[in-house]
Amino acid sequence: MQKWAIAATWPFGRRAVEVGSRLLDEERNGIDVVEQAIRAVELDPTVDSVGVGGIPNYEGEVELDAALMRGKDLAIGAVAGVKSFPNPISIARLVLEKTPHHLMVGDGAERYADAHGLKRDSLLTSSSLEKWKKRRQRQVQITDERWGTGHDTVGVVVLDKAGGITAGTSTSGLALKLPGRVGDSPLPGSGLYADDTAGAAVATGCGELIMRGCLSYAIVELMRSGATPQQACADALGRLVARLEKEIPVRNAHQDMTKMAVLAMDRDGNIGAAANHADFDFAYCLAEDREVRLERAKMIGV
Ligand code: ASP
Repeated sequence: MQKWAIAATWPFGRRAVEVGSRLLDEERNGIDVVEQAIRAVELDPTVDSVGVGGIPNYEGEVELDAALMRGKDLAIGAVAGVKSFPNPISIARLVLEKTPHHLMVGDGAERYADAHGLKRDSLLTSSSLEKWKKRRQRQVQITDERWGTGHDTVGVVVLDKAGGITAGTSTSGLALKLPGRVGDSPLPGSGLYADDTAGAAVATGCGELIMRGCLSYAIVELMRSGATPQQACADALGRLVARLEKEIPVRNAHQDMTKMAVLAMDRDGNIGAAANHADFDFAYCLAEDREVRLERAKMIGV
């Protein structure tokens, strides 16, 4: 039997894994699988940090970031600040496959999506608008302590039947972010990285911290040097937390803004995960038994 494997961040990643595992079984390539898996989460309005129903920025507009990376040739497609399309991951795919570029933002990315026939739609739901109003009532100034509280990313890593490794991410970023803020998720090396010769990793949590350690690239390079996905996740995250030791306790007053979690897969489909907090769950499925499982990541330092 040819191997395949898929893993995705957070309990809502279960939906991504269900969709992705079916496609992997049908021998679809990693790009198709990751795109479709992430689209399923983006279109679910009950997931309040991704796609439709995502968390609005400070001015009440939903701004989405997403990316895809193909490990075969290190090709990347990424978009940031997308406001009118429910599936930014599909625009990221267009960037990867049809442009000479790797990262497109805002209006330019949206006009490119128009030109390729993608449909615009509203991202705001009545529930996300209500939550935004409540957040704004509690937090009148952008400098308030609770800034950013409330965020998550769907990050997916895949080994396909042909041995290809692919990673993808999609998020609305931090709650009440300043308009124009971009997180780690669309940044190659920070929010995601994939290389067929070493493995793949994705990150979720405070993008401002994750990008300071280029966490996903660090994890993939540790796997290249022989670390298991589990060791690589714990090691890379542990190093960043130690390096930012002074920064992180200061921010602990509003703990949500220090949270980070990572998920990785090696060339054989082995999976590892780590977090600097106790509540990071991920979903996964392997060709061996096709069961979709949820597992809690190990917290570093305990
Ligand atoms: N990493 C995302 C960002 O900073 C948010 C998250 O995954 O929690 O935009």
